Amino acid sequence: MSRPGRPRVESFPDSPYAQELRTGFPRLHFAPDTEAEFERSHLRNARSRVRAWHSAVLAVLLFAILPGVLKATSGDPAGMFSAAWTSMNLGLLLAIVVAVTVCRAVLALIAWSPWFERLYPRVSFPLVSVCHGFWAFACGVEILGAHPEYIAPLVADAFAAFFFSGLLFRQAAVVTLVAASGFIVGGLYHSGSFAPMMAFGAHLFINMGLAAIAGYAHERSVRSQFLEHGVLSEMAARDGLTGLKNRRAFDEHLAMVWQQALRDRRSIGILMIDVDEFKHFNDCYGHQSGDRALQRIAEEVDAVSRRPLDLAARYGGEELAVILYDLPREHVIDIAQRLQERIQALGIEHRGSAAGVVTVSIGVAIVHPNLHRSPGGALQLADEALYGAKHAGRNRIHVLSSEFDARATDVLRAVRF
Ligand code: GH3
Ligand code: MG
Ligand code: MG
Repeated sequence: MSRPGRPRVESFPDSPYAQELRTGFPRLHFAPDTEAEFERSHLRNARSRVRAWHSAVLAVLLFAILPGVLKATSGDPAGMFSAAWTSMNLGLLLAIVVAVTVCRAVLALIAWSPWFERLYPRVSFPLVSVCHGFWAFACGVEILGAHPEYIAPLVADAFAAFFFSGLLFRQAAVVTLVAASGFIVGGLYHSGSFAPMMAFGAHLFINMGLAAIAGYAHERSVRSQFLEHGVLSEMAARDGLTGLKNRRAFDEHLAMVWQQALRDRRSIGILMIDVDEFKHFNDCYGHQSGDRALQRIAEEVDAVSRRPLDLAARYGGEELAVILYDLPREHVIDIAQRLQERIQALGIEHRGSAAGVVTVSIGVAIVHPNLHRSPGGALQLADEALYGAKHAGRNRIHVLSSEFDARATDVLRAVRF
């Protein structure tokens, strides 16, 4: 609970982004919902890099390495690259290059496909591990044989795992460990002992370490930016005085739940809450007292929207609004009544009001979305209900509901209290 007189927006106690920023996410991992959102956004941002990397490597495999290995396998010495593969059993080399090419082709296809966001997270870790592991094995054999220049693609792979593969740090680190193991196994396969691979190993592992440090720092900064962006979006959706959602966020949420209610054939309850004689209150007690009264009322209004699809907002001025998703009509009316009672029970003195304290009028609209209705129409219904409550003398509730019947879309049933 915030102290009266201070907007709750200052601390955003309920923002998951702010909470993660406060804790500093030391384990490079967020709470499950935020993590899932981060992973989606990370994949979207990484997509062009992922496409470019897999496509470029696939092109090199298909047009240079695979033909070279095939020529070497068939004993043709004229192949440009065939001379570069001299240290390894050519059958095994061919199997590895084919396996790596197939995995790369699958990764590149998914990277260009419309199902990228759904498929890539499922297959990228195992397939990238296979590519890097087998490739490191083949290069390990060649490095310890006649071709030390094969250290270069392994160093490139180490950085690619962290920056181009679309994997998060932990997975990229595991891929890099797999590649390091592949190199060691390849070296042992060729020379039978660790000693000859020490110098190349040191060179490779230092570069892998550097890639990991850079990858870790990069992911920390990307995660911070994600959280800061989340906090800013939250702030842009909030009203500065009351900390409730603002009108824009309300309209967007209503449009969203409207579609959902349409799909699932559910109802939507809208409470439109207006402070009675508030101009008079400001005139009597001053604008700052008016602000504090609004904040206290907003806290009561906020308390009624506790479920994920409910929303409380400052609709404008001293008018607040609540969306209640899929609640029986009696519950919606009960909530409105209890809210009205609790606001009156705050006991904020108001000499100009009949009750002697600040009261509100509430217009309630209960709508069953169908194709002939719109969110704007539902708001108009709530406005009409509010007007009815004001017109009948204030400090009361009026309910208007659209009947769920396609033949009677314009029939409104008014229930008065
Ligand atoms: P009614 O019972 O018919 O609603 O009367 P009312 O005086 O509340 O209605 P009216 O629309 O005439 O006045 C609304 C007042 O609300 C006018 C404005 O000064 C006040 N108001 C709107 N926003 C704020 C705000 O952020 N702070 C303060 N202190 N007052 C506000
Ligand atoms: Mg008013
Ligand atoms: Mg008003």
